[in-house]
Amino acid sequence: MKKTHARLADGREIIYFDESDYAARDLSDPRELSPFRLRPTVRYDVVQDEWVGLADFRQDRTYLPPDDQCPLCPSTASRSTEIPAQSYDVVVLENRFPSFATMAEAAGPDETLSEPLLRWQSGVGRCEVVCFTADHDSSFSALTPGRVRTVIEAWVDRTVGLSALPHVEQIFCFENRGEEIGVTLAHPHGQIYAYPFLTPRTRRMLDSACAHRGRTGRNLFADVLAAEQRSGDRIVARGALWTAFVPFAARWPLEVHVYPHRHVPDLPALSDDERAELSWLYLDVLRRMEAVFDDTLPYIAAWHQAPVRIDRDLVRLHLQLFSIRRGPGRLKYLAGSESAMGAFVNDITPERAARLLREAR
Ligand SMILES: [Zn+2]
Repeated sequence: MKKTHARLADGREIIYFDESDYAARDLSDPRELSPFRLRPTVRYDVVQDEWVGLADFRQDRTYLPPDDQCPLCPSTASRSTEIPAQSYDVVVLENRFPSFATMAEAAGPDETLSEPLLRWQSGVGRCEVVCFTADHDSSFSALTPGRVRTVIEAWVDRTVGLSALPHVEQIFCFENRGEEIGVTLAHPHGQIYAYPFLTPRTRRMLDSACAHRGRTGRNLFADVLAAEQRSGDRIVARGALWTAFVPFAARWPLEVHVYPHRHVPDLPALSDDERAELSWLYLDVLRRMEAVFDDTLPYIAAWHQAPVRIDRDLVRLHLQLFSIRRGPGRLKYLAGSESAMGAFVNDITPERAARLLREAR
């Protein structure tokens, strides 16, 4: 694989991950763009004990453009896109409308308004877009295992690179798929967020894992995986190095977690063999999910990684795949109980979902 760095016309970084070691890249972006200077912020919700990102310029971002205006397709002689190349394998670029951004000046400490409970600070961090293929009409599940492997290498590379940025606490690689999920560009792509704080879900996982270690001396994720393997009722697929299962208390109609058998904190810690097996197991699980309902599958693929700086022995890397599809033509919406109370009610038992997924091909 060959990695090539370049800058777009407004100064944002773009990185090509080419499967051929001999790929040649013309690195100039012919567009005239004003310099990239955006100032997202984060505010602290003292009642919920959570940070909330604010990026109102995102209201102006490109929304479902026609296919011939796609900004993530390769450039042509008559049209310059975000990717100044005639083709590509996998490419990563800084998001033009980021929720978090690297600031030109060093970030200061928390800013406090005249009221001490009203704290805010710069939304320091970074948001990147990962294009999986130059083919606009493809999808992640249609990629070859070889291409998935290239995507994994891009995630690994960016997790290492973004972890080294000052103030970054957590790296989140994910894919939103489908208009029903809120995707604004149809081109097959995912995103990476480098957060300046620990997200609420990760903090809760840390608390649970810490309490479990205090009670038992063992790792929570290792024990959950062992319990699911002993039970077997919710296993969807397994290899020599990874197991995919519907979690015992799944929140979503179709939800699968994919755990490595070995304790690794994040994607860069995966061995060569683990990356190779993940490439086909990921596709196997995604294709099963797509085959369950005779309908499009809007889904979210979320990589949970250990925090950059703390508790790396507590959280095990795992993939959470889930869909809001609960039947042909039907979606699960986050309504009162889920949105206001944070209490999920699932319409499909995890054991039934696992059976549907095992039988789906
Ligand atoms: Zn496209």
